[in-house]
Amino acid sequence: MELIVALDYPKVEQAEALISDIGNLPVIYKVGFELFLDAGPKWVRAKVTQGHRLFLDLKFHDIPNTVSNAVKQAERLGVEMTTLHLSGGSEMLKKAKEAKRASIPRHKGAPTSPGNSLKPSLRLLGVSVLTSFDEASWGETCDGILGTSKNEIPASSIKESVMGLVDNGKAWIDGVVCSGKEIESVKAISPDLFVVVPGVRPEGSPEGDQKRVLTPLEVKKLGGDAIVVGRPITLSPNPKKVVEGILDEC
Ligand code: C5P
Repeated sequence: MELIVALDYPKVEQAEALISDIGNLPVIYKVGFELFLDAGPKWVRAKVTQGHRLFLDLKFHDIPNTVSNAVKQAERLGVEMTTLHLSGGSEMLKKAKEAKRASIPRHKGAPTSPGNSLKPSLRLLGVSVLTSFDEASWGETCDGILGTSKNEIPASSIKESVMGLVDNGKAWIDGVVCSGKEIESVKAISPDLFVVVPGVRPEGSPEGDQKRVLTPLEVKKLGGDAIVVGRPITLSPNPKKVVEGILDEC
C-alpha cells in the first residue's frame, strides 16, 4: 500500500521543508488547492523533474470541456494522479478520459526524472463522498440537491451514494477516493479500481474534521491501495518519525 502525504500548507517553503525532512522515504506528495495557489504549476513540474512522485488534488468539477482541458494541463505537469468529482456526471468523466488518451504519450520520448525512467500514465481518481461528511450532513446535502425535506423521503446513505457514483463513473476512471469503510463496496463494483483512502489516522492522532477515520493497518486489511495522511504528519514536531511509523503499517 502506498503512502500519500498531503502537503496542506499555505507556503511553498513549508512544503519544501517537509519534503527535505522526509528525504528519500518512498511516499507520494499530494498538492491541493492551498499549496497550489502559492507554489503554482512550475513548482509542481520542478518537483516531478527532481524525481518526486506527485498527486495533483484539485478535485475538478465543471463543464466537460473545461475539465477535459484541465486534465490535459495536469498530465503535462507529469503528475501521477489527479482528482475529479464523480458527481460531475458521465459526460464530464468521459471527456476527461478522452483528454488523457489524447495527450502526449508519456512512455515515448517524454522527459524522465532521475530513478524513474518509465513514468506511469496519469491516473484519474474519482472523488465520491468527502470523508468530512457524516450521515446527517450528507443527508442534508442530498435533501438540498433533490429538493426534498427530511420528513418526505429518506436521503441516500453515504454508502449508497458512493456505490451509485462509482457505478456510474467506473468506465471513465482509474481509481476512486473514498473512506476506508467503503473500500469493499468499491472493489465489489470494480476490483481493478485503485482505491485511495483519506481520513486516515495512526493510533492516537486527533481526528480533526474527518468523520469516517481508520488506521493505516485497518485500510490495508480492507484492501485499500493508497492512504492519504495530512495533519498527523504536517502538525507533528517530528514528521519523519510519523512517516516511518505509517510506512511500517503499509
Ligand atoms: O489532514 P488530513 O489527513 O485530514 O488530510 C486529508 C487530505 O485528504 C486533505 O488534503 C483533504 O483535502 C483530502 N481528502 C479528504 N477526503 C476526501 C478527499 C480528499 O480528506 N474524500
